[in-house]
Amino acid sequence: KPRLRFAPSPTGLMHIGGFRTALFSWLYARKTGGSFILRIEDTDQARTVEGAVEFLLEGMAWLGMDIDEGPVVGGAYGPYFQTQRREIYHQYTQQLLDSGHAYKCYCTPERLDEMRKEQMAKKLPPRYDRRCRYLTADERAAHEAAGEKHVIRFATPIDGETTFRDELRGDITFKNADIDDTVILKSDGLPTYHLAHIIDDHFMAITHLVRAEEWISSAPRHILIWRAFGWQEPLIYHAPDVLGNDKRKLSKRHGAPSWKELQQQGFLPEAVLNFLALIGWSLDDKTEFFTREELIQSFTLERVSVAGAIYDAEKLAWMNGVYIRQLSLEEMTRRTIPYMERPAAEGGLPDSIQRPLDVDYTTRVLSLEQERLRTLGEAAEAVSFFYTDDWDYETATLIQKNMDAASTITALQSTYELLESLPTWEHEPMEAAMRELTTRLGLKAGQLFGAVRTAVSGRKATPPLFQMMEVLGRERTQARIQRAIA
Ligand code: GLU
Repeated sequence: KPRLRFAPSPTGLMHIGGFRTALFSWLYARKTGGSFILRIEDTDQARTVEGAVEFLLEGMAWLGMDIDEGPVVGGAYGPYFQTQRREIYHQYTQQLLDSGHAYKCYCTPERLDEMRKEQMAKKLPPRYDRRCRYLTADERAAHEAAGEKHVIRFATPIDGETTFRDELRGDITFKNADIDDTVILKSDGLPTYHLAHIIDDHFMAITHLVRAEEWISSAPRHILIWRAFGWQEPLIYHAPDVLGNDKRKLSKRHGAPSWKELQQQGFLPEAVLNFLALIGWSLDDKTEFFTREELIQSFTLERVSVAGAIYDAEKLAWMNGVYIRQLSLEEMTRRTIPYMERPAAEGGLPDSIQRPLDVDYTTRVLSLEQERLRTLGEAAEAVSFFYTDDWDYETATLIQKNMDAASTITALQSTYELLESLPTWEHEPMEAAMRELTTRLGLKAGQLFGAVRTAVSGRKATPPLFQMMEVLGRERTQARIQRAIA
C-alpha cells in the first residue's frame, strides 16, 4: 500500500502553495487506499514559529485533508516530530562516519565566511573546500582534544556523476564535482533536512515522495546519501511551483491569502480544495469542477504537470460563486449567517442589528442574493439594508434622469398610495400595478423604479426591485417611501 507524507517545516504560517503540495500526496493516498502521514520537520529551531503546527493542522482540517499518522493521531512509525528523533539521526550519522561516507568538520563560521568571500570574488560557486575531509589522524585528534565544535559533512564522491529519477521529468544527472560536501548534522546535534528526511522517509516506509520543485537541485545529494546507506529511495515527484500572476513563485509579496483569510472571507473549503487541486494537476483540458470524491477518483500523480501553475485569485472567486449557487438555499443560509453575525469590524452586519438573525427572514433575503455572491463574507454588505433603516442617501441619487425634486415627490407619493391600496403583498401583482402607474405618470419604467429602488434600499444596485420589496414587507417598504418624501 502506498505511503505518502507531507513534511513541512514549522518556520512560518503555511502558505496556500504548501497546502496544494500536501493535497497531491493526500489525494494519491486516498485514491490508492494508502496512508497519508504528517511529519513535522522542526530541526531548524532558531526559525521555528510558535503556532505554525496548529495553523497547519487547522488548515488541513478545514480543507478536509485527514491524516492517518502524525503528531496528533500518532501511528506505528513515530515520533512524527524530527526533534524527537535525535537518537535515530545520531545512530545513522555514526554509521556514515564509520563507513567513511561522512566526516567531522571543525571549520569555524569565520573561516567559512572568508572562504565564501574569496569564492565570490573569483566568481566561483560557493562550496566547502573540504579541508577537514583530508585531516590527518593527528590533526583530527588535536581538534577533538581541544573539544572544538564541529558539524558532520557528507563526503561526496569527487568524480563521476549522479543520476536520479524524477517520475515526472525523467532522469536528471548532475556531476559530482558540482555537489557540495553537504552538512548533515549541525553543531547543535540536530540533523539538516538533507539527512533527516532520508532517514525518516526510509523508516516511515514512504513509497512516493512528493515535494516542492525547489528541491530538485539538492536531489542528487540525497540520492548519494540513500546509496551510502544502501537503501532504496522512494519514487520521487517534484510538484510544480505555484506562481503569482506575474509568473513568479507565489510569495507574501503577491498578497495571496492564507487558508485562514480565505475562510474569513467566506470561501467554501470544498471550492478551495477543488481550486488547489487544479494548480499543477488536471484530468483533461476541460473538466474544472470536482467534488472531493471525484478528485480522489480522478487523481493520478502522472498528470501532475512540470510547468509552474498560476494561483488565479479571480478564478477562485468565480469557482466559489459557482459552489455557492450549488448549495441549497437552506444550507447556503446556514453557512452564511455566522458571517453576517460577526461584529461589523470583522465584516459582519452593523452592530446595531440584533443577533441572532431571524432565520426565516434571512433565508428569504439570501434567496435574492445567492445568484450574485462570490463569497459568503460579501453577504453582510450586500443585504444590510434589509435589516436596518439606519442608512442615508444623497437626495440627488433619488432623482432620476430627466426628473426633478417635484416630479420625484409626486412619483413616490403616487407609489405610496398605490402600494397602500394593494390587497396582497406579492411581487407579481405589485409589478403589474407599478407598470400601469408608470404609464399614468408618463414616466419611463427606469425613472419610477429607480426612484423607488433608492427610496427603499438607499442603493442603486439591488436584487430585483419587486422581489426585494416583497421580502422587505409592506410596513418597512411603505415607511421608507414615506421617509423619502418627507
Ligand atoms: N521540510 C521541507 C520543507 O518544508 C520538506 C520538503 C519535503 O517534502 O521533503 O520544505
